[in-house]
Amino acid sequence: MRSYRYRLFPNRTQETVLISTLETCRRLYNNALVERRDAWKDELRCVIYREQQDALPGNKDEYQQQVHSQVLQDVLRRLRKAFDAFFRRVRNGETPGYPRFKGKGRYDSLTYPQSGFSLSPDERRLTLSKIGSIRIELHRPLEGRVKTCTIKRDVDQWYVVFSCEVEVEARSHGGTAVGVDVGLEKFATLSDGTVIENPRFLRESERKIKKRQRRVSRRNKGSNRRKKAKKELARAHRKVRNQRTDFAHKLSRQLADNYSTITFEKLNILNMVQNHHLAKSIVDASWNTLIQYTTYKAEEAGGKVVLVDPKNTSQMCSRCGMLVKKDLSVRVHSCWNCGLAIDRDLNAALNILNRSGWGPPDAPVELETASNREAPLVVEG
Ligand SMILES: [Zn+2]
Repeated sequence: MRSYRYRLFPNRTQETVLISTLETCRRLYNNALVERRDAWKDELRCVIYREQQDALPGNKDEYQQQVHSQVLQDVLRRLRKAFDAFFRRVRNGETPGYPRFKGKGRYDSLTYPQSGFSLSPDERRLTLSKIGSIRIELHRPLEGRVKTCTIKRDVDQWYVVFSCEVEVEARSHGGTAVGVDVGLEKFATLSDGTVIENPRFLRESERKIKKRQRRVSRRNKGSNRRKKAKKELARAHRKVRNQRTDFAHKLSRQLADNYSTITFEKLNILNMVQNHHLAKSIVDASWNTLIQYTTYKAEEAGGKVVLVDPKNTSQMCSRCGMLVKKDLSVRVHSCWNCGLAIDRDLNAALNILNRSGWGPPDAPVELETASNREAPLVVEG
């Protein structure tokens, strides 16, 4: 399965319909949540998805006149998913967190799970049942068999995401294995010495986000000026999201074309969510996107992605395995045991490669000098 995302350009009327459709979906979600909650509270009875789905046609006036029936069913399935996750957390003894109501404007997407949507033959319009024929920009070709169609609102822009089934032919890749260390200082360091610098736009966007955050907190709560500032902040976030996606597409293409086995550290999702440091959170999100894109592109090219345990990758000596403690400010790994002295990120990348099982048993590593360093991969930001 692969996702294709395109920008939509609804006219005024269509945008109004889209917004009210999202509102209807939100209302259904919240009402169905109330039904589940009350049935349990009052009669100790579990309401299941099937019941709620079967009850839908009875609510004809309320929902069905305005929204395609399958879109409504998808709303109920999302609620089921929220409850499934809740029950799973209860079973596992975690903090359960009962499914929450969706506040106004907090319901941002709707899905046609099978039908009710079609592309015009010239691929310039997307027709959505009960909404209309909306202008679409197919900036890259849509491939495979379309399974679902999701319409998303992103602040004040609209997008469609097609989820497609794509056949991948088995191919073999002639390239070599590589380890990738993703960091804060540089975007990534490869085990062959290639350095991918942080794209400048990420830093600039970060600055902009900070500035706009400050602006929001200066404005009075509930004021129109604050609302406006919040919208500007959301736009800045959207911009960095789009830039990140774009960058990840380009870099993952380079990696998939050049290497047969690409190894990353396994991401700690829990750490990611708890991280409040802005720069770090942006890097983590970029990293996640990069791994996702590289995985499917590598598969297409006949290669693969391996994820390894991140423990001690920066402290361990990639040549002799000795632990060489160093804090973040120390940029060179210098081993007192075997004498290896290389850039700390390169050392980490070599450890990552070694853990994939594809690195040479004791990798001969040369100190990187200007003369033996190959031309770096060029990724345009
Ligand atoms: Zn060593």
